[in-house]
Amino acid sequence: MKRTGICPKCGGTQILKIPGQSGPYGSGNNIPTGWSIFSSVLVHRYLCCGCGYSEEWIDKEDIPDLVKKFGD
Ligand SMILES: [Zn+2]
Repeated sequence: MKRTGICPKCGGTQILKIPGQSGPYGSGNNIPTGWSIFSSVLVHRYLCCGCGYSEEWIDKEDIPDLVKKFGD
């Protein structure tokens, strides 16, 4: 959906990009990877207005932080 702009569930083409945020006390759409809000990985969401299907994406440069925290 991020790449095609087309919903895989209903074929809808009205896709909203909802950017991830990092607010106080861990609010917003993010994954904490450390002790402060500055070490959270933002999760961006793509939402189909036709059926409500949503996808979540993380920036590629943030993936190493997640591997560090959650990987083996
Ligand atoms: Zn849809």
